[in-house]
Amino acid sequence: MTQYFDPYDADRPLMLKCSCGRDHTVAEHQQELAAGQAVTELKRRSETAEFEAYSNEFIEATLVKALFPQDEVRRRFLRAVGKSTAMAAIASVLPVASLQAMAAQDKGALEKKDLKIGFIPITCATPLIMAHPLGFYSKQGLNVEVTKTAGWALIRDKMINKEYDATHFLSPMPLAISMGLGSNATPMNVATIQNINGQAITMSIRHKNNRDPKNWKGFKFGIPFDYSMHNFLLRYFLAEHGLNPDTDVQLRVIAPPEMVANLRAGNIDGFLGPDPFNQRAVYDEIGYLHTLTKDLWNGHPCCAFGTSTEFIQKNPNTFAALYRAVLTSAAMARDPKNRELIAKVIAPAQYLNQPEVVVQQVLTGKYADGLGKIQNVPDRADFDPMPWQSMAVWMLTQMQRWGYIKGEVNYKQIAEKVFLITDARKHMKDLDIPFEAGAAYKKHKIMGKEFDPAKPEAYLKSFAIRKA
Ligand SMILES: [Zn+2]
Ligand SMILES: [Zn+2]
Repeated sequence: MTQYFDPYDADRPLMLKCSCGRDHTVAEHQQELAAGQAVTELKRRSETAEFEAYSNEFIEATLVKALFPQDEVRRRFLRAVGKSTAMAAIASVLPVASLQAMAAQDKGALEKKDLKIGFIPITCATPLIMAHPLGFYSKQGLNVEVTKTAGWALIRDKMINKEYDATHFLSPMPLAISMGLGSNATPMNVATIQNINGQAITMSIRHKNNRDPKNWKGFKFGIPFDYSMHNFLLRYFLAEHGLNPDTDVQLRVIAPPEMVANLRAGNIDGFLGPDPFNQRAVYDEIGYLHTLTKDLWNGHPCCAFGTSTEFIQKNPNTFAALYRAVLTSAAMARDPKNRELIAKVIAPAQYLNQPEVVVQQVLTGKYADGLGKIQNVPDRADFDPMPWQSMAVWMLTQMQRWGYIKGEVNYKQIAEKVFLITDARKHMKDLDIPFEAGAAYKKHKIMGKEFDPAKPEAYLKSFAIRKA
């Protein structure tokens, strides 16, 4: 018997503490150590003059793009009014533009400094999460507590009852909450899209020789929430293969961290879920990646960063500071050379609580597919903050298609109220600054079929399988 353990002493608890004295495993200790080193290196990278210049330009470019999503309109506007007028106009109309001018020492302008932000432990939330250890919130004078939350219904409820100041949303959620679908109507906004792509259809390894979705009648699938891109993309995918998602299969709402356990237990045949859980199913050798959602709609939005309209109105400077912190983080997350380090930072228990190798496979796009191949898809997950209103219109068509919304829908009005671009547009009109309507819309292609946001009704009617 060594001096360290005495498993036969009835009067003493059997302590299996780490040598550092804390009550965690050696693996957890090493993961924390690696995370700390990665934070140091990423912080160093974020503090170089080069990154600061890049980040400032990224934020400004994002703002200008939010105002002029179509490059042609932007150029016409600049030619018409000139650069300095344009810059002044943007600063005067876009509340978030004031953040460019907001000097670091001007902290007194913040209406609220102590903030609580909710997140679900998935890679979609990467920018919002990593802003915390990398100090991007505190750099803006904010004291932010990022709070891991058990599921999406809880996120919605905590936003409605104001326990959270801002949150990680599924991008259709602010539309649904604003319209009073599944809750009291409370105006919410999408400030930025967090991530594009980054989801997959993961199937149980039992079905690895049954790859044709036409044979999946009677299957049970997990989705994270009704108002999610996961639900809409899975329904779309199944319907394109001739299956009616309401009558031919069963869809079950399962909180993302529970998806792998449900797949293992055989409660579901597969899921369309967020990462790292697709990759985790492969890591645990219980599932394979049938398809990445990138291959259904390349560039599709998934999660969003947002808050209530009331919060933005009451705390415009705080909101601007938050917006800037999250965009700085997105600028960092977009760069492929930072991805391996980011995986180390967000893998530990207080964030994703996953083996680093799982998160790394997701963020670098070099991954095992569960079918014996190593794939290399650098944009498997990406971080593009632009909240195209046409994306919101597409979500609304799918909510209608599957009966979540009944009756007429004023697509543009809802999209423009919730996806935060247009306040600026209204102000510019008031100031007589030329601005073309319809600029925040673009066409998208989903499974080879074009979606034209100018013709949502015709698009809806074009599907043979639908409820409405
Ligand atoms: Zn330790
Ligand atoms: Zn997501």
